[in-house]
Amino acid sequence: ARARQAIAEHARLVADFPKPGIAFKDLTPVLADPVGLSSVVTALTHGCTEVDLVAGIDARGFLLGGAVARELNVGVLAVRKGGKLPPPVHSVTYDLEYGTASLEIPASDIDIAGQRVLLVDDVLATGGTAVAAADLLARAGAHVVGVAVIMELDGLPGRATITEGLGAHVPVHA
Ligand code: IMP
Repeated sequence: ARARQAIAEHARLVADFPKPGIAFKDLTPVLADPVGLSSVVTALTHGCTEVDLVAGIDARGFLLGGAVARELNVGVLAVRKGGKLPPPVHSVTYDLEYGTASLEIPASDIDIAGQRVLLVDDVLATGGTAVAAADLLARAGAHVVGVAVIMELDGLPGRATITEGLGAHVPVHA
């Protein structure tokens, strides 16, 4: 309830961003508010039990992921947009509405094989990013056991895409 109230109070709706016809949900002001940050982080930790590692998706997922990982007393891994990390990397390319994008994680020095990962991001839209991030983690031998976001967008198949891509046993918590 505290998180819902903080979101209602601080979230910003930006018309026609990043493209005409898209209404962008900007949660940046929620995270900048002390009650907003603590309440959404607490809510995100209800996404899953039995987690070994939190993975935060570029870029607001980094802020949330670190805080959620501290709450759960586990480590955090940044799932970065392509081209930011030094080699070697695991890389996945996925389709966007126009063109493609890629996500990367380090392929050395962090052994995440067998780890149960909670994926954290701010907004779930089509679900393409979350499924791509889960594929990436699977390449490193880890498996996503839950997806936690602050907000899922109405009228988009994010939840169904994750269920289809990762299986019905992976809870999506929004
Ligand atoms: P998807 O792959 O379509 O589910 O898009 C989710 C990704 O795009 C997440 O990393 C979000 O941060 C970002 N995103 C998509 N729509 C919005 C929005 O309205 N507000 C903030 N981020 C968004």
